[in-house]
Amino acid sequence: MPNLDEDLLFRLLFIAIYAVFFGVRMRYRVESAKRKPEERFQIKSKAFMTLIIAILGYFISLVLYMLNISWISWSQIVMPSWVRWLGVIGAIFSVLLVAWIHRTLGRQYSAELAIQKDHALVTSGPYARTRHPMYTALNMFSFSIALTTSNILVLFFAVLVIVPFPWIARMEEKMLLETFGEDYREYMSKTGRFFPRIR
Ligand code: SAH
Repeated sequence: MPNLDEDLLFRLLFIAIYAVFFGVRMRYRVESAKRKPEERFQIKSKAFMTLIIAILGYFISLVLYMLNISWISWSQIVMPSWVRWLGVIGAIFSVLLVAWIHRTLGRQYSAELAIQKDHALVTSGPYARTRHPMYTALNMFSFSIALTTSNILVLFFAVLVIVPFPWIARMEEKMLLETFGEDYREYMSKTGRFFPRIR
């Protein structure tokens, strides 16, 4: 059995960190919902279905974890407390990263694959060496949160959420190549897809 007081501390930390993350995301989501994109691109159904199932599973397991229902108690596994602390640190770090990335991407951001009116190619800050820093930071956040919960269901879905991102990134790059042509091709040659390219 995990130490109860410590378990409670992790639950409180989870709520606090998630609230800040939610606040940051909502701010930019609401802004982006007001924009009318010039062009929308369809995400291929296989990637989209995997993403929807994984995200749904992730949220349902987070709610079950929060409610602490007895018939789901088997999913609560014993992890060394340093792993859960590592999750806390990783989650806080990811929230800071997500905020920085959103600030840099600005009005180019959208929850779907889209090209805005006067869409500018962003190649600075977090985008200087990485093409999809937001996808990396978001996945890092869900995985870190999963470590904090020490719940096998949350962990499973946090890993499943990662699966469709290489497909989505590839479709997004195709769209940006069609829009920015040679500029994006050159940008691709200087950057890594999910992790900074070391020159
Ligand atoms: N994949 C990026 C951005 C996610 S938001 C990341 O992980 O950081 C999705 C939108 O960002 C897409 O609709 C695309 O139009 C836009 N986008 C992605 N990379 C961009 C870039 N370098 N410059 C401008 N817009 C970009």
